Amino acid sequence: MTATFRDVRYVFLDRDGVINRKAPEGKYVAQWSELDILPGVEAAIAALNHSGRRVIVVSNQRGIALGYYSGGDVEALHRRLQEHLALHGAHIDAFYYCPHDEGECDCRKPGTGMFLQAFRDFPEASAANSIAIGDSPSDIEAARALKMPSIFISGDPSTQKPGGDRAAELADFTAESLPAAAQQHLL
Ligand SMILES: [Mg+2]
Ligand SMILES: [Zn+2]
Repeated sequence: MTATFRDVRYVFLDRDGVINRKAPEGKYVAQWSELDILPGVEAAIAALNHSGRRVIVVSNQRGIALGYYSGGDVEALHRRLQEHLALHGAHIDAFYYCPHDEGECDCRKPGTGMFLQAFRDFPEASAANSIAIGDSPSDIEAARALKMPSIFISGDPSTQKPGGDRAAELADFTAESLPAAAQQHLL
């Protein structure tokens, strides 16, 4: 299959629901033992790495604002994830997370602050050569605000969030998983 987004150089991934199984509503993934990586994700990230793309994680972590875990916990979890990915020949080029509660900042998606920070850290990155992949309406809305293409991950229909139908309409494409999105549109 011809990749739809051949010219994309920067792939922005949401974390929960894209890389790992989302915790039930109201629950949070705070530590490595709770991080259930979805099938095929390591290989998909490795393939994106090998295709020359940068792979960047942008994750809302409101659980920090709610006091369930700390920024240090998130960073420790991301280090473990990075070590795990290395065993599969894969890596994340940068992690960004928003520790704030709703309405407190510009970085919590659908805010665009984490993407804009990445554009500062990777000066060749822009909305024109990036794509966002996420399983929440807020992921797709952030991409739309930046005029960046996006792929909505529909995931398991039984756990799909309210608003999924609208997110699917706003996104350029819908795929059932990150491996499917990468295979169908980027590789
Ligand atoms: Mg998510
Ligand atoms: Zn924030």
